[in-house]
Amino acid sequence: MLRIAVGGIHIESSTFTPYMSGEGDFTVTRGEALLARYPWVAGSERFPRFEGVEWVPLVHAGALPGGVVTREFYESWREEFLAGLRREVAAGLDGVLLDIHGAMSSEGLLDVEGDLASQVREIVGPRVRVSTSMDLHGNVSEALFEACDLLTCYRTAPHVDAVETRFRAAELLVRLLAEPGVEVFRARVAVPVLLPGEKTSTVVEPGRSLYGLIAGLVDGRGVWDAAIWMGFPWADQPRCHGVVVVSGPDRGAVEAAAARLGDEFWARAGEFEFVGPTAGVDEACELALSAGVSPFFVSDTGDNPGAGGVGDETVLWSRLWERWRELGSVKRVLVASVYDPQVVDLLWERDLPEVLVGAKLPSQFSVPVAFPGRVVRRFVDVRAGRCVVLADGLFEVIVTENRMQYARELDFAAAGFPGFAGLDVVVVKIGYLEPDLAAASAGWVMALSPGAVDQDLPRLPYSRLSRPLVPFDGFGSDPVLGVEVLSSVR
Ligand SMILES: [Zn+2]
Repeated sequence: MLRIAVGGIHIESSTFTPYMSGEGDFTVTRGEALLARYPWVAGSERFPRFEGVEWVPLVHAGALPGGVVTREFYESWREEFLAGLRREVAAGLDGVLLDIHGAMSSEGLLDVEGDLASQVREIVGPRVRVSTSMDLHGNVSEALFEACDLLTCYRTAPHVDAVETRFRAAELLVRLLAEPGVEVFRARVAVPVLLPGEKTSTVVEPGRSLYGLIAGLVDGRGVWDAAIWMGFPWADQPRCHGVVVVSGPDRGAVEAAAARLGDEFWARAGEFEFVGPTAGVDEACELALSAGVSPFFVSDTGDNPGAGGVGDETVLWSRLWERWRELGSVKRVLVASVYDPQVVDLLWERDLPEVLVGAKLPSQFSVPVAFPGRVVRRFVDVRAGRCVVLADGLFEVIVTENRMQYARELDFAAAGFPGFAGLDVVVVKIGYLEPDLAAASAGWVMALSPGAVDQDLPRLPYSRLSRPLVPFDGFGSDPVLGVEVLSSVR
């Protein structure tokens, strides 16, 4: 009987966000609820059980993308995770399935997942095997690579293979444990490229064929797995860049496959493009107000809470409101939404002539906007909390008590805009449009707005990235990408 401990932590932290993520942002699961993340434990059609393996739940914490995580929460979570691990090691443990995103930040730490994996290794010692399942937007630092025996990540963006990836990480781990004599090598190539999230789709080229190479390189014998991390662009840390990891028992084949993927990633780095039409803030406002079709969607990409933005920046919608007034526009505009609990508090029981909306956290990007405090609707949303809809005539703004992303038709319906009826322009805090919005939109532009998750990376004040790095630096000639190989024999 093999005993494998499972658990981990998931969040994307933008280090440019003034918002701090803490206990209230995380959903923590333990026991049976945690094991539900791993459908093979119960056995299912897609994911057969592993006979002779006992899966031991530790603890898992997951949160929406946000800011740097408070040291207090990270340390209390880590204490529980590592205490559980020590207990299981004492009871006899063969492996650990480390279930992480890879783009978490915590106060004073530049490499949270590297820190975590190193502490795991310290506790379990050299013989217990550690396999890691990650998001392809996570980062693989030297420390993380060193501490784990196996590392893999999603092969799709948008991510439709999260469970498959966890299953693959489990399968690789069980295989390594089932062949005690086998020596497995892992090869890592750092690729000096950092791409904004909205360029990393695997549905379009070159992402599709880059990730498509994996299937041809993995043969199940000498090469067990190959994975490509795009890295997380909105944290100012040396570990944020592309990485390739290949693993398997045939050292030469593993090394060659890693070099091949690394070279291909580098060669095609300049071909990654935004997945939709883009425009600067001013141009996006003009496009929206002059569009001949309705509804026209504008993505406020720099403040996308789905990537780590706060959701309270005002640059885009205040400019749109200004132009709307200058032009005497008769278009009905909805801004969905602005996070501002203070405004909700102020206006929950009364109207006011004017309120300052948004940018209440110390933003580097925008300032609060003086907007009419006339409330046309008050409601409570299951995720957004208490909400008020403010209006200057046909220009309306949803203000929410909690951080929120209006991504689904039912969210708009709950706010009083079923089917987007009557709306000409809809500003959403998002990148590419989620399916409901894409289906409803008659026109769309991604505004490259400034913010904590600015898609135009060189505009952000980085100081700690590993340089040189595309798109910040040019390369006189192609760099030689080094392949680092480590063995499972410690
Ligand atoms: Zn991701």
